[in-house]
Amino acid sequence: MANLNIQGVAKSYGQVEVMSGINLKIADGELVVFVGPSGCGKSTLLRMIAGLEDISEGTISIGGNVVNDVNPSERGVAMVFQSYALYPHMTVFGNMAFSLQQAGRPKEEIIKRVNAAAVSLQITELLERHPRNLSGGQQQRVAIGRAIVRKPEVFLFDEPLSNLDAALRSQTRVEIAELHSRLGTTMIYVTHDQVEALTLADKIVVLNKGNVEQFGAPMDLYHRPANKFVAGFIGSPQMNFFNDQNVISAAQDTLDKPLKDIVTVGIRPEHLTPAHKDEAIVFGTVRLVEKFGEYDLVYLSSDTERDFIAKLVPDHVSAKRGARHGFAANVEHLHFFDTLGAAIAERNA
Ligand code: ADP
Ligand code: MG
Repeated sequence: MANLNIQGVAKSYGQVEVMSGINLKIADGELVVFVGPSGCGKSTLLRMIAGLEDISEGTISIGGNVVNDVNPSERGVAMVFQSYALYPHMTVFGNMAFSLQQAGRPKEEIIKRVNAAAVSLQITELLERHPRNLSGGQQQRVAIGRAIVRKPEVFLFDEPLSNLDAALRSQTRVEIAELHSRLGTTMIYVTHDQVEALTLADKIVVLNKGNVEQFGAPMDLYHRPANKFVAGFIGSPQMNFFNDQNVISAAQDTLDKPLKDIVTVGIRPEHLTPAHKDEAIVFGTVRLVEKFGEYDLVYLSSDTERDFIAKLVPDHVSAKRGARHGFAANVEHLHFFDTLGAAIAERNA
């Protein structure tokens, strides 16, 4: 097992810089998720850690050793990709044993390690099958098994669940979390899905355009996003943003001390509660109600500006199309942003 230290890392392809100034300290045994929109640099950063891409600037250390010039196979990392790329002509056992055979490990040890990995992934009964006779979920487990048998210091996963259907994805997500707590190995997990990030991670790295927007525990990012990008990316449905002066003034009124430089007020759909017009911060007219059973998503048109969403207990509001409602939120659920989109941290909560 090992910690990971990424210092001042940048990546350019020719003249184009796609990542810059990346600084991250990942503790031994942590499960860290890199999350961000497509093209933000998640795979590039992961591949630099794995040694599959050169590092243009900065250093990456694994277990205290700078690995910039170390071969991928000698970094103590094992990577699982979105496309499993199993060897079609080999059995599951053969696929899982391959890297150990290449490394010249003794036969008994190989059998022992493959069997142990198969048990922990519950694929023992699949060992003699070929990949074409496996479901997507089973192939995905074999790909993870192939990584486990190598007993790496660090596991690197690049969107390993993207090819699975929704039900299997959430099941496999739980299995990966369990695997991590059982093995205790440092893991870096890349996804564009903020739900996967929130549910799996000890810590989340939010990436955007090759920069780290925020690095922290999932609930820190949810409750105290550093800026509008993180506020909008973490949480579903997205946080509502209001730029209207009336909303800003009404939100100010709920604070003990007024804040300066507020340009945007953010309130998550789940934190809006119906309120009498004297207490309400925002007002809107119902456009549409989506019923999910346990809650309603109420889509509203704001009087003055953009639309917003309230997540409400069913029937809490007689949410009929065309009805007008006011909403308030607890002061600790109000987020304030300045003209650059940075969170105005000082709150009176
Ligand atoms: P993500 O995994 O977050 O979707 P990537 O790490 O694959 O994003 O890509 C980050 C950025 O680097 C993108 O803008 C992409 O176009 C660019 N990029 C990736 N690989 C190359 C390459 N070989 N040459 C030039 N640009 C690349
Ligand atoms: Mg990618």
